Amino acid sequence: MKEFKSFYKTVEGNEGQKCHYSTRLDTYGCGCFHDCKYCYAKSLLGFRDLWHPDDPSVADISKIEKKIKTLEKGTVLRLGGMTDCFQPCEVKHKVTYKTIQFLNKYGIHYLIVTKSNLIASDEYMKILDKNLAHIQITVTSTDDKTALTYEQATISSERIKAIEKLSANGFDVAIRVSPFIPEYIDFDILNKVKCKKVIVEFLRVNGFIKRTFDLDYSQYTHKEGGYYHLPLETKKKLISKIKGFEQISVCEDCTEAYNYWKTHVNYNPSDCCNLSFNSEKENYIGNLKLLNNHKMGFLSSQKSHPNTISKITEWLETVDEDICIVSGFQSKNESKLLDLSLKNNKKIIMVLSREIYDKCPTKFEKAVNSGQMLIISPFDNMLKVTNRDNAKIRNQFVLDTSDEIVVGDLSVGGMLDGILNGKAFKLLGEKL
Ligand code: SF4
Repeated sequence: MKEFKSFYKTVEGNEGQKCHYSTRLDTYGCGCFHDCKYCYAKSLLGFRDLWHPDDPSVADISKIEKKIKTLEKGTVLRLGGMTDCFQPCEVKHKVTYKTIQFLNKYGIHYLIVTKSNLIASDEYMKILDKNLAHIQITVTSTDDKTALTYEQATISSERIKAIEKLSANGFDVAIRVSPFIPEYIDFDILNKVKCKKVIVEFLRVNGFIKRTFDLDYSQYTHKEGGYYHLPLETKKKLISKIKGFEQISVCEDCTEAYNYWKTHVNYNPSDCCNLSFNSEKENYIGNLKLLNNHKMGFLSSQKSHPNTISKITEWLETVDEDICIVSGFQSKNESKLLDLSLKNNKKIIMVLSREIYDKCPTKFEKAVNSGQMLIISPFDNMLKVTNRDNAKIRNQFVLDTSDEIVVGDLSVGGMLDGILNGKAFKLLGEKL
């Protein structure tokens, strides 16, 4: 048995920019018993003879625990990004089982994506923490026999039973239709699945996929990111056939479609994975009515140009007294703007990249008590600390909440540049 050493990874690039949960922990690597013909990891590793479906490498649980110990409480890790963490060898090695126990111990959230019904067995349901576990069970075809022609995981009907069992027991679970191949989905069966949430990810086509599925690809005419995709209008028609779920979300690579789903379809515009975080307490402190004012979002990259602050000061003087400035107020320019806004009695909405404070920080008490300020958090859970992923969700929330966007300085190719893609905004400072 080989050790899987690179079990922890943060995905960068286009996928990392659009995916909120880009940090992955894989308990098994370099092989997966499910042996899906379309497997992305297999396509990358197979031709170098690094993919062994019958003999996956196994991560060392003591190293996993060491890594988990270093993570900030409230982090969300994706389990099963490279291979399925509930593939059959889990029954023997139990690395996923023990990993879940450590994640529970250290208060780390986990998003499990699997094609196995093992997760819904009583043994695993006993250890899944309802406050930390978020589960997506993938279904690629509603027909058992069709699915078995290209993947060797639990049959679809048993996966659906697992989804329904987890849902009935109060877990945060979604049916993940990925890749969504319309020819393989019976919408009557899909729409009857007893689960609140559905997540859809359309098939993206390249030469490898064409050799895998015997389909008519003539409609895949939109080229982006090295793949062919269905045009947005076709995707919209297909999505309209999915009914009966309380919450729908589309996981998307193409920029125009990504923005469309986010604005018009996705249940949570700030999170296409649509994870649920439980909390009893309110997620704001201060004057909630400020949300009804005209809102100007202000964002600025971490790097700043020395001349920009004077431009921000000049701009602030032009901001009308009824306008609310919305920001995380974290980068150097944002933080300077917060000081100026407090001093000049401007209306402020501060968006946190962690859960709401237990108590209003002393320095904001005056502004909060006078109705000048609202502090709000898009996180409903126990996220005590901020990290890059949470900061991205926070900035996305600023964009989604605001009527206009103003940018201080912008680092080209940085996180802010990524989420501003396709958005109209006014740049006060410099592109760095
Ligand atoms: S379950 Fe996932 S990792 Fe395993 S073979 Fe299928 S696509 Fe690849």
